[in-house]
Amino acid sequence: MLSFIKNFLKKGGAPNSAPTLIPAPEHHLSRSLISRNCLGVLDTLANAGFEVYLVGGSVRDLLLGREPKDFDVATNAKPEEIYRLFRNCRLIGKRFRLAHVYFKHEIIEVATFRKQGKKNHHHQVKGQNGLLKRDNVYGTLKDDVWRRDFTLNALYYDAKNNIIIDHTNGIKDLQQGIIRIIGDAESRYREDPVRILRAIRFTAKLGMSLEENTAKAIAKTHMLLAAIAPARLLDETHKLFNSGNAVNTFAALRHHDVLQHLYPLTEEALRHPTLHILADKFILRALQNTDARVAQDKPLNPAFLVSVFLWYPLQITLEQENLNKKDTANHSAFTQLEHTAGKILRQAKQHLAFTQIITQTVIDIWLLQFQLIGRRQQQIHHLSQQPRFRAAYDFLCLRAEGEAPLKPIADWWTHWQQADDEKRQELINTLPKSTRNKKRRYPSKRKPAKKPVPKE
Ligand code: ATP
Ligand code: MG
Repeated sequence: MLSFIKNFLKKGGAPNSAPTLIPAPEHHLSRSLISRNCLGVLDTLANAGFEVYLVGGSVRDLLLGREPKDFDVATNAKPEEIYRLFRNCRLIGKRFRLAHVYFKHEIIEVATFRKQGKKNHHHQVKGQNGLLKRDNVYGTLKDDVWRRDFTLNALYYDAKNNIIIDHTNGIKDLQQGIIRIIGDAESRYREDPVRILRAIRFTAKLGMSLEENTAKAIAKTHMLLAAIAPARLLDETHKLFNSGNAVNTFAALRHHDVLQHLYPLTEEALRHPTLHILADKFILRALQNTDARVAQDKPLNPAFLVSVFLWYPLQITLEQENLNKKDTANHSAFTQLEHTAGKILRQAKQHLAFTQIITQTVIDIWLLQFQLIGRRQQQIHHLSQQPRFRAAYDFLCLRAEGEAPLKPIADWWTHWQQADDEKRQELINTLPKSTRNKKRRYPSKRKPAKKPVPKE
C-alpha cells in the first residue's frame, strides 16, 4: 500500500488535471477483495458493453485495509438499462434514481454517472439556499467525479483491468489522512448539508482530519441542516452513532456546533447551568458502551441511545413542571412522567423521524426506571419479564455509575438476575418494607406529611 502511494506521490498530480491511473503493481486492490455478488454485477455490466467501476466507501476502505460496509458501483448504464440486465433489481429514489441489485444477504447499489447540471436544468432542481432537490442529469465518469463529496470517496476501481482512476488527488488525501470536499466547500454544503454530517462521520470513523476549507465552511452552512427531512437526518444519525466511533463522533458534532440540528434538547441540556456535567458524563458512558458493543459485534438497540440523549431533557422538563405546578397539580408522578415523556419525544421527532417502535421503547425504558427503583415485592417477577426489562436494567446501571444512591439498587437487580429461585426469594425478602406494598408516589411529588392538629 505505502509503496504504491509513494510511487504515486512522486508522479504528483493536481485536481482538474487529467486523471491519474494507478495500475495493479502499484496498488493492492484485487478482485479477491470484492464480494462475489458485487463482482457478478461488475462483470454483467462490463460484458454488456458498459463502463463500470467500484467506487466510494468500498474503494476507500479497501485501500485503508478496512472491511467495506457495502459495495457501491458506478456505471454509464442508465437505470432502466441496469434494470433490464438483472432479474433481482429494483429502481429506487426520486432525488437520486438508483438501481439496487438484491442478493440473499447483500444489496449492491448501482448508480448511473451524474453531472452537476447547468442552472435550471429540469432534471436537476435546486431549491432555496442552493439545496439540491433532484439530481438526475446523467454524464460521464469525469462528470461523476465532481458530484461526489470528498476526494477519498471519488476513487474508481476498474475491476476488469485492475486500475484505480483518481481525478481529485484522492489517493494523496487518503494517505495523508485528510477529508477534503470536492469543489467549493460552502456551495457543496449548501447543495446538500448532509455532507456536513458525512464529513464529521468520516473524520471520526477513519481518524482523519478535515482540510481547512472543508472544516471552515461548516460554521457558515450548518444551519441549513434544519431544512433536511427528519427521516434522512435519522438515517445519518444512526450511522453517526452506530459505526463504532460514537465517542469521537459526538465530540466532533459538538465541536462543529451541529448536535443542535439532531438533538436540540440534548444540546440545551448540555448547556444547563447545573446538570450539564452529569448529562455529559452520562452520555459519554453510553457512547463508550455503544462503541464497546460494536467492537464485540454485539447487537445494538436503536432506542437505547435515544433514551440516553433525551433523559436529561426529560429531567429538566420534569423539574420545570414541578416548579410551575399549574399543569401537573392533579397528576400522579407516574402519569406526569408518561405525559412529559410523550411531550419530549414529540419535540425530538420534529428533527429525527423516530419510528413508533423506537418512541415506545424509549418511553418504556423511562417508565421502567420508576418501577425498577420502586421494587415492589409482588412486581419483581412481572417486571423482569417485560420485553424492555433488559434495556431498562442497562439504563439503570448506566445511571448508577453517576448517581451513587442508585448503585445498590442496580446491584440488587444484577444479583437477582444471577440468582436461582430460592436466592431470588431471599433477595425479595430483603427489600425494605416501605418500598414493598405501599402505593408510592414519585419522590418529587410526595405530599408533605400533614401536621397533627393540636387539640384544644
Ligand atoms: P459508508 O458506506 O462506509 O458509510 P460511503 O462513502 O460508501 O461510506 P455511501 O453513503 O455508501 O457512503 O455513498 C457511496 C458514495 O456515494 C460515497 O463514497 C460518495 O462518493 C457518494 N455520496 C454519498 N452521499 C453523497 C452526498 N451526500 N454527496 C455527494 N456524494 C455522495
Ligand atoms: Mg458505501
